Amino acid sequence: MPSTLLTPYQNRRQFLATLLVGSSALAFGGLLGSRPVRAADGPFKLPSLPYAENALEPVISARTIGFHYGKHHQSYVNKLNKQVAGTPLAEQPLEAVVKATANPDQTAIFNNAAQAWNHTFYWNSLKPKGGGKPTGALAEMIDKSFGSFEQFKAKFVKVATGQFGSGWAWLVQDGDKLVVVKTSNADNPLVHGQKPLLTVDVWEHAYYLDYQNRRVDYVTAVLDGLINWDFAAQNLTAQ
Ligand code: MN
Repeated sequence: MPSTLLTPYQNRRQFLATLLVGSSALAFGGLLGSRPVRAADGPFKLPSLPYAENALEPVISARTIGFHYGKHHQSYVNKLNKQVAGTPLAEQPLEAVVKATANPDQTAIFNNAAQAWNHTFYWNSLKPKGGGKPTGALAEMIDKSFGSFEQFKAKFVKVATGQFGSGWAWLVQDGDKLVVVKTSNADNPLVHGQKPLLTVDVWEHAYYLDYQNRRVDYVTAVLDGLINWDFAAQNLTAQ
């Protein structure tokens, strides 16, 4: 319909809708999905999301990602920066800080360092239109370790939903086999001699806005629609 035929009311609505779309696009950081990252007051920075905040919909809403990435993940990075300021840890890569602080005397730093690392790993474990099944060497190792892809999937959902309270579910490489493990709070397989291939965050903040208490629905939907098997395969071959 030519705009000249619209009533002023319709024109105004159209104008407002355009404004809203424009501001949403800005809020989402444009097509590349990287919101402007606030300058860090320390050595560690919040990495850009590898996709737009709304790119994981409908499985995970932009609202959840907005809080989870923009508030929770940012907060772990900010707290870590405060904790390591002026110490030798400030000169280390994040993964080294995670490993160095995995002891009872440095739990407070470990919690923020590991959560900073875990969340970046989680964002990379997901992708828009992901899911499906892995291929190649990874698919073969999954068959060998779990019997079949379906058995892996059932095991992953069972472990993820069996984690009592906050934590993470992981597919890890442990020697010559793959294993599904869960960790509590900030804990990470890296400090248990295992190599993470992918993870799903099962803290309530990861799913509560979208799924409330239905963690099983969240984990199943993530496996079916978002898991980034290319990322897992890269981690497997990076031995
Ligand atoms: Mn989280």
